[in-house]
Amino acid sequence: MSNDAPVLPDERGRFGEFGGRFVPETLMTAIGELERAFAEAQADPAFRDELDALLRDFVGRPTPLYFAENLSKRLAGEDANGEPRVRIYLKREDLAHTGAHKINNAVGQGLLARRLGKRRIIAETGAGQHGVAAATVCAMLGQECIVYMGAEDVRRQALNVFRMKLLGAEVRVVDSGSRTLKDAINEAIRDWVTNVETTHYLLGSAVGPHPYPLMVREFQSVIGGEAREQLLGVEGRLPDYAVACVGGGSNAIGLFHPFYMDESVHFIGVEAGGEGLDTPRHAAPLSAGRPGVLHGAYSFLMQDEGGQIEETHSISAGLDYPGVGPEHSFYKESGRATYATATDDEALTAFRLLSETEGIIPALEPAHALAHIVKLVRDVADGTVIVVGLSGRGDKDMEATAKALGVKLT
Ligand SMILES: *Cc1c(COP(=O)(O)O)cnc(C)c1O
Repeated sequence: MSNDAPVLPDERGRFGEFGGRFVPETLMTAIGELERAFAEAQADPAFRDELDALLRDFVGRPTPLYFAENLSKRLAGEDANGEPRVRIYLKREDLAHTGAHKINNAVGQGLLARRLGKRRIIAETGAGQHGVAAATVCAMLGQECIVYMGAEDVRRQALNVFRMKLLGAEVRVVDSGSRTLKDAINEAIRDWVTNVETTHYLLGSAVGPHPYPLMVREFQSVIGGEAREQLLGVEGRLPDYAVACVGGGSNAIGLFHPFYMDESVHFIGVEAGGEGLDTPRHAAPLSAGRPGVLHGAYSFLMQDEGGQIEETHSISAGLDYPGVGPEHSFYKESGRATYATATDDEALTAFRLLSETEGIIPALEPAHALAHIVKLVRDVADGTVIVVGLSGRGDKDMEATAKALGVKLT
């Protein structure tokens, strides 16, 4: 965890005008308790030692920083000495236990729940990745785990449902609304209101009411903290660009935040452009939405004229969410970061490109970040250094990509 956080929300939990706590009165006590417990844990060397040990021995940190030389040469060519004109580094969260960055946050919140004396953990999941991370940590820490998941997602992600059950979690199917992630979150919040005395809500991204966005950022900042140190080691300098995909925004904020004070480092967050921003079928609230309140916080979101949440679409389930973490809205408004989009097709192309050039099959989410790099390198100077958050591996996406590429698996 980075303890010298340069960006702290105000006493109302706001990053600029974004964030806050739009929750039922009945949750205020629990949220206040969580905020205090988190602050105490951050200041407690014993907590940090235990977290660090689990990140090392259970999660497999530090994850490598890999110089993608083939990809660099393929995208930007070589100079007169045969050196790549641009150097692209991948921060390998795909090598973390369970195959993505989500485990960093799950371990942190699991330990925090234990500190709070809460043995019952609830979580929500869309594609199932956060549900698997939560179930994994609960098995390890001996906690009860209940995962809310939309019926539509249960159908699409049968393998992850099986994984969660193997890990001892109970999966509760949500049949309301569009029967996807946002409905699962609503159901998890309802459970929390009812069982708040005994239960910790393990939120999976840097969204929700304060202190979640701050807390999740701090648990994910291990990504950028390591990357910064690793880059200084191999390059002797900071990167020019840090690029990551943005769903709720946790892997991106975790990569960006430790570079916040390094003004020369440009941040680029890449949202899901789906079938294009000129269609309603995308999941790009920062690029095409307006601010409003969803799931306890004020932030950019996809809503219609009347303020109803719009259905989203992305080829990658992990980016298929109508909202985004408030700190990203703040970065957007302040200009500290810029936000772009990549379409389903662009992400698929980048997915194949990384597989073929580097022998690394990425998850479809970070394939959006890679798709943006393809465009970015056209406009940058020789010697530019780019770090990309490779938030997860592609195993989970074999069925979706085979289908999109018109390949029959059996
Ligand atoms: C869930 C997920 C994401 C999106 O979540 P963020 O909170 O925006 O990081 C990105 N990549 C992978 C691999 C995921 O599983």
